[in-house]
Amino acid sequence: MSVCEGPCNRVWRQGRETFVAALTAWEETTPDERGDRPIPPDVIPTPGEPVWCRGCAGSIRRALADLDNLAPLVAATSDGYRTRADDSDRVRTSQTAPSPSPAADVLDELYGYLSRIEAQWREARGYGARPERSRGAPALTIVVSWLGAHLDNILADPGSVGFGQSVLRWQRHLQTLAKARPEGRRKPVPCPRCDRRTLVHEIDRDLVRCEAADCGRVMSTDEYDAIVADRTQRAAS
Ligand SMILES: [Zn+2]
Ligand SMILES: [Zn+2]
Repeated sequence: MSVCEGPCNRVWRQGRETFVAALTAWEETTPDERGDRPIPPDVIPTPGEPVWCRGCAGSIRRALADLDNLAPLVAATSDGYRTRADDSDRVRTSQTAPSPSPAADVLDELYGYLSRIEAQWREARGYGARPERSRGAPALTIVVSWLGAHLDNILADPGSVGFGQSVLRWQRHLQTLAKARPEGRRKPVPCPRCDRRTLVHEIDRDLVRCEAADCGRVMSTDEYDAIVADRTQRAAS
């Protein structure tokens, strides 16, 4: 049976690790000294179908889409981030000049990683080479949606273990970076201009603003409420 490599089996993996460590320690003690032989943990792992279970495949799909939603929020952190690094790390990093924008570096690394995955999958499947695209926010959106369109097939491939785990790790990483900035309350409805989940309610100014650096749509809370009402009505009809 192949076991799902996703977060659903974390407890099972930890239990197995603890057991192996205990068993190794037990085998290294002399028969006079040692107590009972450790018992393997009684946890049944979730099987992969064939690589990931359905729940973890869904988590990876949501995480991949979330990378595109989180990227503009992380990009918007550039300034605050830079100021803090200048204040606290001045002495320690005086030898190496800090990057002008750590957030941009992180997003560039993410883009590079996802592009490599797209290129590998194209080659494995005999699709043509990746078209030349300029880097930046639209390019990230394109590579995320390309991978999303092929995700079912990618995740059915035994070679997708590292990729799936990386996507989940990248999501956590971007969530942490996006949280590092002072933030209003995230809104669940996508921005009417750029269609990403980047709207934030700025409580002190009582307006709703798109955090995406390349969009920046601002609206009153009444306007936002009207969009919600309109969406609800369309979904119901
Ligand atoms: Zn799973
Ligand atoms: Zn927007």
